[in-house]
Amino acid sequence: MAQLLEVDRLQVAFRTDQGALISVDEVSFTLGSGETIAIVGESGCGKSVTSLSIMGLLGKNGSVTQGEIRFNGSTLTGGSGNLLRRLRGSEIAMIFQEPMTSLNPVIPIGEQIEESIRLHLKRSRKEAKAMAVAMLRKVGIPRAEAIMKEYPHELSGGMRQRVMIAMALACNPKLLIADEPTTALDVTIQAQILELMKQLQLENGTAILFVTHDLGVVADMADQVIVMYAGQVVEAADVFTLFRAPQHPYTQGLMKSVPRLDQDSRERLRAIPGAVPALQEMPSGCRFHPRCLHAVERCIQEQPELISAGEGHSVRCWLTAVPGNGSSIGRTGSV
Ligand code: SF4
Ligand code: MG
Repeated sequence: MAQLLEVDRLQVAFRTDQGALISVDEVSFTLGSGETIAIVGESGCGKSVTSLSIMGLLGKNGSVTQGEIRFNGSTLTGGSGNLLRRLRGSEIAMIFQEPMTSLNPVIPIGEQIEESIRLHLKRSRKEAKAMAVAMLRKVGIPRAEAIMKEYPHELSGGMRQRVMIAMALACNPKLLIADEPTTALDVTIQAQILELMKQLQLENGTAILFVTHDLGVVADMADQVIVMYAGQVVEAADVFTLFRAPQHPYTQGLMKSVPRLDQDSRERLRAIPGAVPALQEMPSGCRFHPRCLHAVERCIQEQPELISAGEGHSVRCWLTAVPGNGSSIGRTGSV
């Protein structure tokens, strides 16, 4: 059976003064109904660009230059964008870190949710209002009726985030794209909102694409994980495999930088030294080599391909251990 979402060798480029810069390079994954996939990596690795390209929201300088995105069997890329406009908000919804980007500041909250329900689900004004209030209650907003009349700026950040989630979920989308949706919230509210997303997913079979730099959230939410570095997938696996046996040095580094409660606070954040390269300054060979503790000569010269490291597990590193093959480095030959 076809998957709900198929991203196939996606390449995204942005026009700049320095020419076209490739921001997402050959990213592929699939997502089925009711499943959650997480894309992780530091800022600037192409996570958000990947999710924005699914929504067709790359802006005027960005475009999909290769590959294809399919939703429910229909191709989203390369067309006029009409199909995407029809799907956006109804079958595909998105929530962002900053709710003000998707809430209209001059329209009361209730009206915005009602409009969205009326537009996408073709309900009467009265029905839409009742659904909007019910949805606000569902996302844990007290005094939902009163909040309906308020404007976005009258609410706290946490409340706005809940409103945005209510609006995204009100139309019962098949796919929810959540880009750092809880990053700006305190941990208690974050936990509540993640719980809510899981519950709504169970009820409605929603597929979730989760973009985050927080591995704690990944462990809690995801079935599948994609780790991105400098625009490329460097590791992909199911969540258990990724946490039990991460193979890429970048993934291992991310794991080490997760705060652990049993550690002294000074030791907690062992972030990976160095920074994600700028698009116009991509290193030769393996893009991670300037920051990698295991880099060898070959890593500077030749770019590794994404290869299989076991069932459903792929890794982009010359040192990848392949099942049934004792030696690792040098194994795949030059590419
Ligand atoms: Fe490190 Fe080399 Fe693997 Fe890149 S290919 S992650 S530089 S060991
Ligand atoms: Mg981002």
